[in-house]
Amino acid sequence: ALTAGIVGLPNVGKSTLFNAITQAGAESANYPFCTIDPNVGIVEVPDVRLQKLTKLVKPKKTVPTAFEFTDIAGIVKGASKGEGLGNQFLSHIRQVDAICHVVRCFQDDNITHVSGKVDPISDIETINLELILADLETVSKRLQRVEKLAKQKDKEAVAELDVLAKLKDAFEEEKPARAVEFTEEQSKLVKGLHLLTSKSVLYVANVGEDELLDVDTNEYVQLVRDFAETDGAKVIVISAKVESEIAELDGEEKAEFLAELGIPESGLDQLIKATYELLGLATYFTAGEQEVRAWTFKKGIKAPQAAGIIHSDFEKGFIRAETVSYDDLVDAGTMQVAKERGKVRLEGKEYLVKDGDVMHFRFNV
Ligand code: GDP
Repeated sequence: ALTAGIVGLPNVGKSTLFNAITQAGAESANYPFCTIDPNVGIVEVPDVRLQKLTKLVKPKKTVPTAFEFTDIAGIVKGASKGEGLGNQFLSHIRQVDAICHVVRCFQDDNITHVSGKVDPISDIETINLELILADLETVSKRLQRVEKLAKQKDKEAVAELDVLAKLKDAFEEEKPARAVEFTEEQSKLVKGLHLLTSKSVLYVANVGEDELLDVDTNEYVQLVRDFAETDGAKVIVISAKVESEIAELDGEEKAEFLAELGIPESGLDQLIKATYELLGLATYFTAGEQEVRAWTFKKGIKAPQAAGIIHSDFEKGFIRAETVSYDDLVDAGTMQVAKERGKVRLEGKEYLVKDGDVMHFRFNV
């Protein structure tokens, strides 16, 4: 399963946020594909469509979909040279599919800042630089090997040399790999390098609990937003402290608390949705009398693979997928009416599954 890593310098609020994640936590029993590991938190994906479908179909049970966050502790300046938990830290980042980079935007004189003062851009650059340096090393090593092959007029090596040189230039200018433009062919080569700075990233600005209502006046948040724009990244503003309080509440209490605070959606829910998107994930539904359920798929897969997410037999014996879009089903009000309106399609093996599809698989056993 795809996972997003939570990274950030010490004392920025990572553990507080991660605790909120595990407390809000989904029951891992419902999600056998998820990892059981103290550094992994499973979150359910909030989705109003699931509630709507539940009202419509009135099933015995409703099951949201879920995915994982991984807590990656231990980055300090010098990690790429093995400082702190350096190498371990980098290998953990290598294993995640996207990065949520937590940045301290709250003022609190009681909580030490590692570099002496709150300075989110310098914090971001510190971590990004460690990742860039680690990638520079990867690319330099590879360059030495490929240069030899290129001298022997090995065609593939010559093509790769181009890519490596371009990456090296970028790293020397302290730019991440994701900022470099490549052709489709070249992108495949880059993918094979498993670079840390190729991973997509979003920034989590952790503000003080009293600033949530008026985040625009927090100058640090503004700085992070400006920086993120240059990185083509999204910013989610949260107060980790508030999130850890919200995580202790159940559904109704949570809604009341949010209403009191005057915010429509918890920061954690916003973060979950944004990270889901960042990972390239989307949701399809199954809607039967027994169970209405949301399923996560990686964008770009076809109907048989989507069926395989439920059970490998569904993929092996796949015949067709009865498919209706969420909007068409809700418009129609019942599956029967949707059918009468011709909105329920029979899709075959080549069908590219779309976010919001409600699917029923037909298969041979
Ligand atoms: P980590 O080292 O990045 O995991 O940071 P922690 O989550 O352990 O937080 C460091 C300290 O900052 C703890 O004492 C937290 O209670 C505190 N902290 C985290 N978020 C906030 C916040 O929004 N406001 C305030 N005032 N303190 C916070």
